[in-house]
Formats: sequence, structure tokens, C-alpha cells
Amino acid sequence: MKTIKDMDLEHKKVLIRCDFNVPMKDGKIIDDTRITAALPTIEYCLNKNAKVILFSHLGRVKEESDLVKNNLAPVAKRLEELLKQKVTFIDKTRGEELENAINNMKEHDIILVQNTRYEDLDGKKESKNDEELGAYWASLGDIFVNDAFGTIHRAHASNVGIASHLDSCIGLLIEKELNALQELNNPKHPFIVVLGGAKVKDKIGVIENLVKKADKILIGGGMAFTFLKAEGYEIGNSLLDEENIEFCKKIINNYPDKIVLPVDVAVTTEYSENEEYKVKDISDLEYNEMGLDIGPKTETLFENYLKDAVIAVWNGPLGVYEFEKYKQGTDRILQFVVNNKIKMILGGGDIVAAASNSGYKDKVYHASTGGGATLEYLEGKTLPGLEAIK
Ligand code: AMP
Repeated sequence: MKTIKDMDLEHKKVLIRCDFNVPMKDGKIIDDTRITAALPTIEYCLNKNAKVILFSHLGRVKEESDLVKNNLAPVAKRLEELLKQKVTFIDKTRGEELENAINNMKEHDIILVQNTRYEDLDGKKESKNDEELGAYWASLGDIFVNDAFGTIHRAHASNVGIASHLDSCIGLLIEKELNALQELNNPKHPFIVVLGGAKVKDKIGVIENLVKKADKILIGGGMAFTFLKAEGYEIGNSLLDEENIEFCKKIINNYPDKIVLPVDVAVTTEYSENEEYKVKDISDLEYNEMGLDIGPKTETLFENYLKDAVIAVWNGPLGVYEFEKYKQGTDRILQFVVNNKIKMILGGGDIVAAASNSGYKDKVYHASTGGGATLEYLEGKTLPGLEAIK
């Protein structure tokens, strides 16, 4: 795979697909992590005397009223502050104004193009990878750098489309992501997988792919209860993914030594934090109770497997981490991982949000920036954004 280091960027017009899909409220950026994550690639290009043209999507654009709240202009401002240089924002995704601005660029200049999904108003041109749009954007530059890991599993005009028409490579952010995730392709052993989150349904692909390679899959979160049900336990009102009980039975039967389930859970009778914190062994759950977190015996059980791990990956929180009371299991395992320097890759999405909330995100070996993209990587699927570069 060609990376930015393989390219001759000198004096070139370099199109960079970034992921500036930042959380916004009332036109203000709430969290600029994604913008700061894009800086190394932008700075690398500037240092090579390139002219830098940035593309990104922001939110979803389905109707006219989505345009204002998904305007990329505040990102240009934030970029200016971070890079300490002018960033010219073009409030268009195509046309004369954009073309003239690019033609008049000098080395080290930066242009940010308006939200690529503004093109979705007209027949979803961006999201459906409209051939003409990808070719048009490609015509604006000399080299394409894809550095938006979060959309690498999608074929859009601003990634796959441009890459199909231009000499292309990946940027430093995607390179970092892939370097970490590639360690899971032929993992060293013991390789431990931690899975949590709400539904079995969302993790079937990951389980099927990783169960073959992993030494243990430690299962917590809401999804553990469908496995426990498959084992014949009373799970009360805990989250159940009825349609996938058979799948869980099959996995347990085929890999009896690999699947590790909770032995105790924090229980309540309603989905809230109103009740006193109470832990029960898994065989003692009443019909009116639900488990919202793993208990201390399960934490010890999981830690005993994790302490020997040469490499580990974790997707999905082990409890309802949105509730202070029921984020303890997730937090304690995160703390154990950090304190024991376990080589852990956090697989994007909610587990990274949980780690970020409790201050562990920057202390783990790797916290992936992609939610869906990482999940699809862990499922062993090919990622169109990468295929287009290859
Ligand atoms: P996912 O997107 O599949 O990783 O799921 C994350 C969601 O799973 C979070 O919103 C958690 O609140 C939820 N979750 C984790 N554990 C449980 C549980 N025991 N019961 C219900 N929901 C849970």
C-alpha cells in the first residue's frame, strides 16, 4: 500500500480526504480530536512544499435544512488556529470559485472545500460515489491522499471516486490505524478478544472471524445475556437478542474452550440508576431483574486471561457505561489493561468513548478512530477505501 512517504509531493496540488466529522452544537465544535488527528498529514504535505486542498464530510445531508448545521466553515477556523496559518474556506463543492481558488494557489497554501455531502442533496452524488463527481474532484489536483479512516469502509466519491482517477496513497493517520490493526491478522498468542456492547447481531461477523484466531473471547455487556440464555440461565429482563440464541449455541458448542461468559453481574429491576448497586451470581438472577454490568468475580476472571495476553482487542463496553454506577466493570478492566501495560487495541466506537470519558484513551496501546470501519476490519471484510488505493 502506497503511503504519503512514497509520493513526490513537491509543488503538487495535493487533495487530502480528511475526517473532519466533528461533533457540533449551535455551529460550535464540541470536540476537535478529529481535526488535531489530521494535522500530521497536512503538515507533512506543507513541509514538502505542496498546495493542500482538504475535503471532508460532516454529518448527513438529506434536505436543505441540513446544510446550515453541517457547514464546514467552523472547521476552517479551528484549523487556522491549530496550524497558525490562513486556511481559505470555499463554500462550494464545485464550480468556478473553487477552480479559480485552486489555480491561484501557491506552495504552502491551504484550501478547505465545503462539506462533500452537500452533493448528497442532488441524488446522493457523494454517498453513491457518482462517477462524474469523483472524476471532477480528481481533476482539481495532482495527487490524492486518503486520511479519513472513519469512512474507509464506504465507497464514496470523495474517497473511492477520487482515488480511481488519480495517483493515490494513504495518509499518516490511516497508516497508524492499519499498522495497529494489521497486528491482529496473524496475531501472536495468547490473543485475547474482549467483546461487549448491546446486541449479538452487530458482532456476529467479528465473532465468526476472530473466534478462529483468538485464544479466548471474553464476553460482557448486553450481548453476554444472549449467550447466557443459550447456556440455559435465567436472565430475567436482561437484554436478549432472541433471534441469535441459536448462533450463540453454535459458537459455544464449536468453541467451548474459547468463550468466557460473566459469572456475576450488577443487577437492578429497572433500566436506571435509581436502585442500590447490587451484584448477583449469574445463576441467582430473578425473573424481574436485569444485568447492567459485569460483577467483581467476572472482572477477576477476565483479568486472569488478559494478564497473559501478548495482544488483545476490545470492542463494546462491558456494561451500561452511560450510567455512572454501571460503568465500573468497563473502567476497572481498562484500568487493569493500562496498569499492566497490556498491548490492547480498542476497536473504535463506544469503547473508545468510554475510555475517553475515564481518561484511559491516551494510555492504551491503540485506540482506533473508526467505529464502523474498525468493526468491518475486524470482521475480515475488504475496505473499499483501501482497495481503491491498492
Ligand atoms: P455497541 O454499540 O454494540 O458497542 O453497544 C454499546 C451500548 O451497549 C452502550 O450504549 C451500552 O449502554 C450498551 N450496553 C452495554 N452493556 C449493557 C447491558 N448489560 N444491558 C444493556 N445495554 C448494555
